[in-house]
Amino acid sequence: MSLVRRKFDTLIIGAGGGGLRAALQLSQADAKVAVVSKVFPTRSHTVAAQGGVNAALANVLPDNWHWHMFDTIKGSDYLGDQDAIEYMCRAASRIVYELEHYGVPFSRLENGRIYQRAFGGQSRDFGGEQAARTCAAADRTGHAILHSLYQQNIRAKTHFFDEYFAIDLLRDAQGNVLGALVMEIETGEPMLIEAKATLIATGGVGQLFRTNTNALINTGDGLGMALRAGVPLQDMEFFQFHPTGIAGKGMLISEAVRGEGGYLVNSEGERFMERYAPKVKDLASRDVVSRAIAIEVREGRGCGPERDYVLLKVDHLGDEVVTKRLPGIRDLSMTFLHVDPAREPMPVYPTAHYTMGGIPTNRFGQVVVPERHGPEEAVPGLYAVGECACVSVHGANRLGGNSLLDILVFGRAAANHIIEFLAENRYHRGLDESCVEAALDHLARWDLRGDGESVDGLRAELKRTMEAHCGVFRDEAILSEGVQQVAALAERLKDARLRDHSKIFNTARVEALELENLMGCAQATIRCAQARQESRGAHSRVDYPERDDQHWLKHSLYFQDGRLDYKPVRMKPMTVDPFPPKPRVY
Ligand SMILES: Cc1cc2nc3c(=O)[nH]c(=O)nc-3n(C[C@H](O)[C@H](O)[C@H](O)COP(=O)(O)OP(=O)(O)OC[C@H]3O[C@@H](n4cnc5c(N)ncnc54)[C@H](O)[C@@H]3O)c2cc1C
Repeated sequence: MSLVRRKFDTLIIGAGGGGLRAALQLSQADAKVAVVSKVFPTRSHTVAAQGGVNAALANVLPDNWHWHMFDTIKGSDYLGDQDAIEYMCRAASRIVYELEHYGVPFSRLENGRIYQRAFGGQSRDFGGEQAARTCAAADRTGHAILHSLYQQNIRAKTHFFDEYFAIDLLRDAQGNVLGALVMEIETGEPMLIEAKATLIATGGVGQLFRTNTNALINTGDGLGMALRAGVPLQDMEFFQFHPTGIAGKGMLISEAVRGEGGYLVNSEGERFMERYAPKVKDLASRDVVSRAIAIEVREGRGCGPERDYVLLKVDHLGDEVVTKRLPGIRDLSMTFLHVDPAREPMPVYPTAHYTMGGIPTNRFGQVVVPERHGPEEAVPGLYAVGECACVSVHGANRLGGNSLLDILVFGRAAANHIIEFLAENRYHRGLDESCVEAALDHLARWDLRGDGESVDGLRAELKRTMEAHCGVFRDEAILSEGVQQVAALAERLKDARLRDHSKIFNTARVEALELENLMGCAQATIRCAQARQESRGAHSRVDYPERDDQHWLKHSLYFQDGRLDYKPVRMKPMTVDPFPPKPRVY
């Protein structure tokens, strides 16, 4: 079979907000850009973002980027890298105004300025009164952003490969990344894309857990590819559980609901967040609210016949606020719960939501790998941005509204760095055929048919195991059992086969490749969770309830061969004084 080969300056894997923001910057600079996406670009998970994007515009209440920076560092439980956080918060206003000019239809205030709502963890004056920092297009902000970016890319003549699945990076013996092997999903034909620079923007890995808010496509493919190319994953034990998923189903009810004045109650009708976060109550950071709900249910104050959820009330806000500011939430609630939130409260429970960890990068989007016992070095030609990357601006816990900001700020920054890289690397390097063969062999592995383990069954088991053993609360016994179970599942995956139908559908092959990626992410997540003997942000160990800065103020790294390593947090901002760790109370 002859292998189709294409050459571009830059290959971008993923067409969510991160990939598209980078592509736009590059296409506008006349670079030849290919964007590969396993779904049509505007179906990427960014489309589902509801609440909004943070920037200290001060349109509703006084604000400035320095307060935003403080909140983000505190929200991260001091694990975020302070140089990257400063860079992001300073760039935020500009990024939002750029979006406005790309055509994003933001909601407006009476005076015509962009509407901003309150979100969890936002304060004025370094921990003072509540701020209102989240710029919103009703409760469909991600939809508005993704569609505008896609249209701008069409205008800038970005080249799209829609419904192509990226399988493996091509990395030569000198360590250069030179593109990727992809497969056209419709035909199953492999194709080689050679590129001077490759950017991974494949989003998060919410599908690790049975109950989650993520799209089915969020299987951590970029993370799996990175692991196989010798790049470790960073801080994977920090997975965000969003406090308000639709009970029993997991779909997201945005924090915007609480930002607009909604609040949580238990079976006794008590507004219980007053006990856990006396000052900011329902707008405490997400890890704090998720734990509070889990405790209420565990202690018997849950609602419903099984007492297994709490209620989120908005009916006191009135029809107008619900219709104007939360129309998408109302639709979701009517569809999945048959509840009109303007009349009755919604049953909610924490649900897996966001991957704080990922591919280690610096603030230019370059993928950086520690040399053994030496300094970090950038992998030549490899970049990562968005939820698949760990830059790390979210540390141990992400604040609502900061992820859309992260993907846009670093999408743009990575593209700017790639433009410099392309100026210095004007020609394609020769491709080493052995890395092509390795990638083709990987694909061929899924031509095996027969009666081995089924991919579907293994995936379901993996998601159940992760939910039971690596959830909101963790301890040594539960984690070590989980580590063993995941290792056993990884072994069984080696014997998995596609069913022996006369024609194997390419979607089945895609699901098998996705499961391999999920498996790598699961091992990284649960192994790092077991190793980290402290509670920080979203990682909550019942047996080690305190944060331990003396031993654990460091990032974890997980390698494909199972090795763990650690690296320091960058505590030094670019231009302002550092924020040293303090107890985190809301
Ligand atoms: C329901 C929901 C609501 C949210 N609300 C907010 C919010 O209000 N504010 C906020 O800041 N954040 C929010 N977030 C988080 C935020 O939306 C995401 O973190 C962010 O949009 C991720 O963008 P991304 O570009 O990194 O990836 P994604 O948008 O997930 O895109 C990933 C892309 O990679 C492609 N891809 C993946 N694997 C492959 C492969 N193997 N081959 C080819 N292509 C591949 C996909 O096709 C897709 O195009 C929300 C998240 C969810 C799930």
